[in-house]
Amino acid sequence: MSIAEKIQKWYEKNGRDLPWRVKGGAHPSAYRVWISEIMLQQTTVATVLSYFDRFLKRFPTIEALAAAPLADVLLLWQGLGYYTRARKLHECARVLVERHGGVFPADRKSLRALPGIGDYTSASIAAFAFNLPEAVVDGNVIRVLTRLNGRDEPVASIGNEIDDAAAALMKSAPCPADHASAMMDLGATVCTPKSPKCLLCPLQSDCRAFRDGTTDKIPNISKPKRDKRKGFAFAVKNAAGALMIRKRTEKGLLHGLYELPWNTDGSLPFDADWRKTDIAVRHVFTHFDLTLEIVRLTTETPFADGFFVRREDLENYPFSTMMKKVLKASL
Ligand code: SF4
Repeated sequence: MSIAEKIQKWYEKNGRDLPWRVKGGAHPSAYRVWISEIMLQQTTVATVLSYFDRFLKRFPTIEALAAAPLADVLLLWQGLGYYTRARKLHECARVLVERHGGVFPADRKSLRALPGIGDYTSASIAAFAFNLPEAVVDGNVIRVLTRLNGRDEPVASIGNEIDDAAAALMKSAPCPADHASAMMDLGATVCTPKSPKCLLCPLQSDCRAFRDGTTDKIPNISKPKRDKRKGFAFAVKNAAGALMIRKRTEKGLLHGLYELPWNTDGSLPFDADWRKTDIAVRHVFTHFDLTLEIVRLTTETPFADGFFVRREDLENYPFSTMMKKVLKASL
């Protein structure tokens, strides 16, 4: 039996049941596949499961998503992080309605031309929704392939070879959609980062890392250094206890969401009776750790771009996860 056949057989018995996939071929809704793929970027399956149904309930079709205000989409996205994904999702829905009649194109090149759809997502939609033999390579798949082939070089240096190995395996797969799901499930549930369950693995007799006893050394991933940044978050209240917030400008990190003003240069915005506190909020972004110390001020005059909101009305505004921590610490 070929490796691809072993993977298929294993998947039919052991593959995870997830609301955005079907076993035995293409998923009938490219829309569901797309939403799940965007949500799953940088987010675990367990977290996505709780958001996916709510999102689909509120926006059951591409048309519904395209017609909704961006603020509604961001509101439902709260807590998932990486808000550019939500903005691109919304933009892409509009493009699909305007240029494609609300239907996903069924080829990789046209998919790739849509907003927010890159190499990875276009391959995912092509494989999962159209059963095309496009290899989908995520962290799980990289782990399975590097161990299977005993590749102990730094992953960053063998990216093309990993892609080629994934493509070759996909080519021989009996069912592309199942194969793409199977590779991910194998990595997520059997070929796990620590203590892989090799005794349950359908590829055990083919696996170089198992044979050589090197599963703990492969994949070889060197971690990039994280930048640490510090600054202030400004908790400005009026005498009635309403908190000042503002909308971030439309460019850059977390744009379009609401926030308490903050900075990372350690300066106070203007001369006033600022009161420093010992309260600090830490948040981990992809490339840096941010620590913000809460500084308080009571005034009736908001910043030029800010406005006061009563505590009970704050839930009507979308905030990032980082800003929710700051809000909690500020109230
Ligand atoms: S035998 Fe072990 S290391 Fe090799 S692919 Fe299977 S689970 Fe991963």
